[in-house]
Amino acid sequence: MITVRPKDGFKGIKEYPLTNWRAECPKCAHIEIREGDGNKCPNCTSDVQMTYGTIFSDTKWDSDDARKSWRKISCAKKCGWNVNMIQCSKCGADIQGDFFKGTEPKITNNCFVATAAFNGEVHPTVSSLQFWRDNVLLPKKRGRQFIFFYYRHGPKWASRLDKFGFLKPVVRGILTAMVKLLMISKENDRIQL
Ligand SMILES: [Zn+2]
Ligand SMILES: [Zn+2]
Repeated sequence: MITVRPKDGFKGIKEYPLTNWRAECPKCAHIEIREGDGNKCPNCTSDVQMTYGTIFSDTKWDSDDARKSWRKISCAKKCGWNVNMIQCSKCGADIQGDFFKGTEPKITNNCFVATAAFNGEVHPTVSSLQFWRDNVLLPKKRGRQFIFFYYRHGPKWASRLDKFGFLKPVVRGILTAMVKLLMISKENDRIQL
């Protein structure tokens, strides 16, 4: 499973609500708060939700800060209240990051079209495209615009491709050629440096 991770200075990634979410203590496994337990936003008394993804400003993804804010509990009405760390009421340990557990929506997990074309995610071409997305597209504004565009339409295209399976070899050919071109342009970049 691949998650798009924001790079330094990356702004504006969408937040996605998790389903079956819960905050589980890393020390004593006590579930401090979970979906449907009636917890309310302390600010406006609306329901709370758990989301992943966040608005990054100048926080580096690699910093602890960024990792903590990747998953958070927030007001479902979006009044602005949110936390990315809570304390276990049983043992006092901090609960955060990966211990904010839940099911991610499918939408961000795939290079949809490539995955459909190769009938799965493990093909090296798919990995190359994911690498290209995360390391070449994501740091650039235009690249991010393309990613958002693709994430809006990709699932549609992918399901069409699933329906018309005979097109898959064609798309596979195109994607493989694309990856080769990308490799060449990467080599060129290196030479220029
Ligand atoms: Zn609220
Ligand atoms: Zn605990």
